[in-house]
Amino acid sequence: MTPWTDDEIKRFLARAGLFARRGLTHTDAEALAEKCLNRDRDIGARDMRACIECKHLQGGGRCALTRKDALPKTMFQRCHGFEWQVPRAA
Ligand code: SF4
Repeated sequence: MTPWTDDEIKRFLARAGLFARRGLTHTDAEALAEKCLNRDRDIGARDMRACIECKHLQGGGRCALTRKDALPKTMFQRCHGFEWQVPRAA
């Protein structure tokens, strides 16, 4: 297993904070942030995103872009409308 870099650790902490603010438990937020880190390292999966990472996800689980229900917010998928919700530092 490759050790995490300093940048990966910072990104992990920021993402875990974002995911917790968006409704995941602390444990689930950290688990998804780790999945995102592994996704980022997998060149074939880098375009797979979860709605919980997207700036269009609204509080009620709706997508502001499509004006429909978002997909399950922790499921990785390819979406042409995806735009990063930049997480703040933890
Ligand atoms: S634009 Fe796509 S990825 Fe973003 S919230 Fe809507 S459905 Fe999810």
